[in-house]
Amino acid sequence: MRRTDHFKLLCDIGELGQLFTDTQNLDAFLQKVVETVSEHMQTPVCSMYIYDETTETLSIKANKGLNPERYREVKLNIKEGLVGKTLRELRPICLERASESLDFKFFPGLDEEHYDAFLAVPIRQGLNRIGVLVVQRQKKYLFKEQDVSALQAITSQLATVLSNVSFLISLGKPPKKVKKGLLKKLKFIKGKVASPGYALGKGKVVKKEELFFSFSQRTFVKFFTMEEFKNAIRITQQHLQTLQEKIGEKLSDDASLIFTSHLLMLKDEKFIGEMISLIEKGINPPEAILIIGRKYIDMFYASSNQLIQEKTEDIKDLLTRLLSNLLSEEEAVNNYFNRIIIARDFYPSDILKMSSEDVWGIVLTSGGVTSHLSILARSLHIPMVIVDRPEFLDIPDDVQILLDAELGNIYLNPDDDIIREFEKQKAIQENILKDKDFLKKPVVTSDGTRINLLSNINLLSDLKLARESYSDGIGLYRTEFPFLIRTDFPLEEEQYVIYSKLVAGMPKKPITFRTLDIGGDKLLTYGAIKEQNPFLGFRSIRFSLQHKEVFVQQIRAILRASVKADLRIMFPMISSIDEFLKAKEILRSCQAELKKENISYHHNPKIGIMVEVPSIVDLLNEIAPEVDFFSIGTNDLIQFVLAVDRTNEKVANLYNPVHPSILRTLKKIVEIAVENKIDVSLCGDMAHNERYIPFLLGIGLRNLSIDPLYIGRIKRTISKINLKQAQLLAQTLLKHNKISEVNQTLTKFFG
Ligand code: PEP
Ligand code: MG
Repeated sequence: MRRTDHFKLLCDIGELGQLFTDTQNLDAFLQKVVETVSEHMQTPVCSMYIYDETTETLSIKANKGLNPERYREVKLNIKEGLVGKTLRELRPICLERASESLDFKFFPGLDEEHYDAFLAVPIRQGLNRIGVLVVQRQKKYLFKEQDVSALQAITSQLATVLSNVSFLISLGKPPKKVKKGLLKKLKFIKGKVASPGYALGKGKVVKKEELFFSFSQRTFVKFFTMEEFKNAIRITQQHLQTLQEKIGEKLSDDASLIFTSHLLMLKDEKFIGEMISLIEKGINPPEAILIIGRKYIDMFYASSNQLIQEKTEDIKDLLTRLLSNLLSEEEAVNNYFNRIIIARDFYPSDILKMSSEDVWGIVLTSGGVTSHLSILARSLHIPMVIVDRPEFLDIPDDVQILLDAELGNIYLNPDDDIIREFEKQKAIQENILKDKDFLKKPVVTSDGTRINLLSNINLLSDLKLARESYSDGIGLYRTEFPFLIRTDFPLEEEQYVIYSKLVAGMPKKPITFRTLDIGGDKLLTYGAIKEQNPFLGFRSIRFSLQHKEVFVQQIRAILRASVKADLRIMFPMISSIDEFLKAKEILRSCQAELKKENISYHHNPKIGIMVEVPSIVDLLNEIAPEVDFFSIGTNDLIQFVLAVDRTNEKVANLYNPVHPSILRTLKKIVEIAVENKIDVSLCGDMAHNERYIPFLLGIGLRNLSIDPLYIGRIKRTISKINLKQAQLLAQTLLKHNKISEVNQTLTKFFG
């Protein structure tokens, strides 16, 4: 075959890619591929095998040259045949006489015996196995080196489009058969606790994209009336309103309008009107919904404004709800009720929606325990465990799942004795929370040293538990959460209302506001900027200093809402003295403005910094005269010191709070604070882990701030600690230079 022919073939395949975008008929597309390849490579036989990862089998989806009555029956395991070997080893196999190979698998009736010259090339995209492209000829026309290169070039060009094909094929199939042995393999799995608690219920895998996709691939046999369409709109509207109310109650924040854009779309005369006019022309309502829906998705997606682009998610969600209500497929959308959701990942707004639909628990197969999704799950009291096991997404719905999100254990179809043990533990935890007499007492070590146990507040609804646990105040109010659950930056007045509720909810106790810490994994649905390395990017104080208009409104709202409070304001992500001074100057100018405007405000709040960026640790002595307090943010500090992304489950084993460098850094920060007589506290997740408390007290920390959910148990832990022993433990740990030694000493300490 001449070079020019190969080149032409590549061009044709390129056109096929385009053809795929235009066609909805997969079979026709695949057939066109094999015919083009067979024609250009002058091989009478060409077969396209597609791989099904769940069943580990390859089957011929399109063919030219073999017995058309039989080739569709060909199915072979990845462990079988030359084709299986090609995909298993991910390398081409080129043979003169295929039938003489030990790996050859004979299929009677295929008529391939005349074509012994064999060339198979794997199709893969990245690490994903997609299928195998095979060409066969009579043995006198052997395949050459250049044929191998040509076929490889073709498969690599086709890989992307074919990966979509295998996805589409999997959607068209009846519900996946569960992989043999999967439930047994996952019977007991240990994950990481993201949000504590217990849950026992039926599982439900959520793949939101697939749900919409499967609707858009469907042919609707039944014809629906206009009345049914309008009824579906009414039901969807009522349903969304109920969810909206429920979420308002849960968050104690009536402005959390996460379903507003859905409701607005439903009321939009143009959007719904276009559907109605198609239905009037005789189009079946579900088709009309999809046609107009797709038009809007394309339109939004084509926008250069990222904010508008992201609205496509809302439209897909809305269309899915509307279609499910029209087709009466209640199962499709509203079946989160009392379920344990299994998902790969989702947005913070999804978790809010799930909470309003009374989800009992969540298993996530990606993300980190200090990610903000986890923090939000805690505030919503949804137990959540993270496991780096994508197979969880293949678990069939309705399998009974026991989520022990105290230990991070997940049981599938748990035995009765495990369920009994679970009920017992659950009761013990509930009793700790109910043990008012114990909670009321001040937090002291066994030898009488007073420790302040404050609360981290994310949503106003956290306040209730913080009060019930007799917390010593608010050590961290993450002000970004009201920003995260809205659809636009809340204005000064709106923030003033929220902050006033916060102050009123924790009277006579210190209240620490942290200014806006967005970015990283806390992306706003409005004005979000996609970055390569968001944790190292335009985050937090960097955003506030550049968007002074947002920053000023926030500081004014804080100062106004806390006139009578024991107010502390701290800036997150401070990496230099200069940055801190700029932020402080803005705070001072806000005070001056308020004074000029004759508006009452707090005149002398304590001003502090989060110590969470390593560069500030070396400057603490110098920044000390400028600040009133340090608050150590171990969630970020650990990720920056160890260079481990806090949200990446692939490196979760390296995210280690007891790495010797972390222990020494913490010691150094506390020492500098004590020397400079500056208040120091720790508000990262490290403070809610019983295992680390003796060390933290041992190096001199006396203020810890944690999610209120943990106050009962940490109080109990502290009450059992003897400070002398804790100091000795800390001294020993600080001498170690290996993680393994630290772990051994800790294990010995806890017996
Ligand atoms: C931290 O980094 O430890 C912290 C408390 O802040 P956040 O988790 O919100 O980044
Ligand atoms: Mg932080």
